[in-house]
Amino acid sequence: KEVFLKVDNLSKHFPMKKGVLSKQKAAVKAVDGVRFEIYKGETLGVVGESGCGKSTMARLLIKLYEATEGSIEMEGKRIESLNKQELKKFRRDIQMVFQDPYASLNPKWTIKRTLLEPLKVHGIGSRNERIRRVKEILNAVGLNESYAERYPHEFSGGQRQRIGIARALILNPKLIIADEPVSALDISVQAQVINILRELQQEYNLTYLFITHDLSVVEHIADRVIVMYLGRIVEVSTTEKLFEKPNHPYTEALISAVPEVNSEVKKERIILSGDVPDPANPPSGCAFHTRCPYSMEVCKTKRPELQSINEQQQVVCHLYDHNNIIGAMEEKKKK
Ligand code: SF4
Ligand code: MG
Repeated sequence: KEVFLKVDNLSKHFPMKKGVLSKQKAAVKAVDGVRFEIYKGETLGVVGESGCGKSTMARLLIKLYEATEGSIEMEGKRIESLNKQELKKFRRDIQMVFQDPYASLNPKWTIKRTLLEPLKVHGIGSRNERIRRVKEILNAVGLNESYAERYPHEFSGGQRQRIGIARALILNPKLIIADEPVSALDISVQAQVINILRELQQEYNLTYLFITHDLSVVEHIADRVIVMYLGRIVEVSTTEKLFEKPNHPYTEALISAVPEVNSEVKKERIILSGDVPDPANPPSGCAFHTRCPYSMEVCKTKRPELQSINEQQQVVCHLYDHNNIIGAMEEKKKK
């Protein structure tokens, strides 16, 4: 498997004033020491409740935000060190699809103008070539060419999201970051948009980072999944394994809440106590310890590290420290 994007120790802290009288400055660690890889051609899902840092991470990846710490490498090159020329190419290679296509489309522009704009900005093709490309891309997302002359308000939510996808695709990107792309759509339309995304992935050799709070959506599109909680990764797994056996207590609770249509096994729904803590003031140790049904003493003080369970799964949880100890002892015996 070829690594397309490599994220190492990525953090984004937003400064915050702590009250008028206090000179003390605090920071919200929206993304806190995140590391992962995206392989070429895969769909990597990112899951977590709202406020867990998913969208901030997306904005770091497209360089809309500067990282406080850490590095991002695309195809082996650090994006912080790109020169002007390379940066321009980078801005073509990574495109975004947003949750609310209506808010991200200019209401005063025809679809044609919206789709032509990125081609103009990047100086791609002659006028005729650009128009041909617009038609081609509208067809690719299952929209009629004649729609090019219409305005966003003339379309349904699902059609507007297709337009959002067309705009992301028109520059022939390598990676598409989709931030809750189907969350605003009806269930039946969600399936259509997901199917379109899958078809386009095949046709154009795309890599996807698919951000959602909805695990049932991720189940249908992702090859692998990252689970985030309060700005940190808590679990990384292939989608199949994740649903078969989630390792992190947080993932376990999330999955227990996904309604199962075809399963005979009835899962016990795990209700987490309490709300998601204030990201400005996250709990010490394991940030999940205030809500975790398995919380131990060590969880309150010691921050767990990412560790491998097997080739497909990694977890950040002290419950697995013991396995490490046993593993180490067995290693010793062999020697
Ligand atoms: Fe729960 Fe402790 Fe694991 Fe955190 S480290 S998820 S509190 S068991
Ligand atoms: Mg978000």
